[in-house]
Amino acid sequence: MARIVQKFGGTSVGDLDRIRNVARRVKSEVDAGNEVAVVVSAMSGTTNKLVEWARDIGPLHDAREYDTIVATGEQVTVGLLAIALQNIGVDARSWLGWQIPFKTDDVHGAARIEEIQAEEIKTRLAAGQVAVIAGFQGIGPDGRITTLGRGGSDTSAVAMAAALDADRCDIYTDVDGVYTTDPRIMPKARKLSQITFEEMLEMASAGAKVLQTRSVAMAMRHNVHLQVRSSFNEEPGTLVVDEEQIMENQKISGIAYSNDEAKVTLAGLPDKPGIAAEIFGMLADAHVNVDMIVQTAATSGSQTDITFSLGALDLPKAESLLTEARDRLGFESLQSDSNVAKVSIVGTAMRSQPGIAKQMFEVLAQKGINLQVISTSEIKISVLIESAYTELAVRALHDAFTLETA
Ligand code: ADP
Ligand code: ASP
Ligand code: MG
Repeated sequence: MARIVQKFGGTSVGDLDRIRNVARRVKSEVDAGNEVAVVVSAMSGTTNKLVEWARDIGPLHDAREYDTIVATGEQVTVGLLAIALQNIGVDARSWLGWQIPFKTDDVHGAARIEEIQAEEIKTRLAAGQVAVIAGFQGIGPDGRITTLGRGGSDTSAVAMAAALDADRCDIYTDVDGVYTTDPRIMPKARKLSQITFEEMLEMASAGAKVLQTRSVAMAMRHNVHLQVRSSFNEEPGTLVVDEEQIMENQKISGIAYSNDEAKVTLAGLPDKPGIAAEIFGMLADAHVNVDMIVQTAATSGSQTDITFSLGALDLPKAESLLTEARDRLGFESLQSDSNVAKVSIVGTAMRSQPGIAKQMFEVLAQKGINLQVISTSEIKISVLIESAYTELAVRALHDAFTLETA
């Protein structure tokens, strides 16, 4: 007997038939003698619609009310799944974030889980009841509903698995595992039977939305046995594992892309200590996440340019903050561009193999793709390019690094 957490994403609970299908998958784990907690997302498309309404009613909406609105999608699916389970003879009840509770900080729209009180759930699981838990939501220090950021149900599931000391956390989605790149844009993408936590973390943060980045970081920290698999078939999925469990890797593991990027250039900044700290401190205080940063060497001796990338949604906020602070910061001009995409290659093999960056840049050059910003980590190389070239870049790199063959 094992204690497991199953998470079903939006497409997997996209209509009533699919919810009945999920109920059968849950029942088969219960019938196998396992204790089961299920975390569900809203029906696919629902959260997008809710976000759109929240934005349309007023662009400078109160983030606490935004969360009140966007958290509702999951309330519907937990209730429906609990009934679907009861209908097939499985004892089940729904749980909203605040009822457990999932305690979070007060960063509405991107809250972090601070504590989960799982005792009551443990007792119920031991008594044979399935807990159907609303993903994506929690309760802040002021008692108000919070949400964990888009894709946050993955993090709810991993956090629940950690709090319950679960033996497994299975993420059921609309693909049957983690692929070498998004199978939606590269039909030749290959399913990986295993990927390391570190690689998965880099892939997720580079845009592979199959798992929310925070969920991977949390699984890594709490040693959660994480698997990504399909809710529509019984194929084995992808296991996310420690590096020691993987045999020597010959090449890069995957390619990720993100189209939700924007670029800001501040030209003619005074070249003096403290300017970068002030710019990025100000953005951080406003919860604007900055990703790639380049500062050009001062040419005239007293001035420099800084270019950075950030999420496209944060661009208006960043622009207005920087424009307001223009006199204090002393830059000459601000240029922005949301017509950019980030393409990244990821693999632990990079640590031991020189020349991978060269190969990446050559492949993109052959396709006539200009690199606007480059950044690297130990196991990842990212480039910012014009967004029209995203798919071309991903496909060319997938071919060049021969990822379709194991
Ligand atoms: P869910 O609603 O189940 O959480 P998501 O849409 O959030 O599902 O994530 C699954 C999607 O992630 C897939 O449909 C696929 O298009 C996309 N994806 C991006 N990169 C990858 C990858 N490397 N492997 C698998 N899926 C990926
Ligand atoms: N429903 C939320 C979203 O669409 C959370 C999730 O699906 O993980 O972002
Ligand atoms: Mg998701």
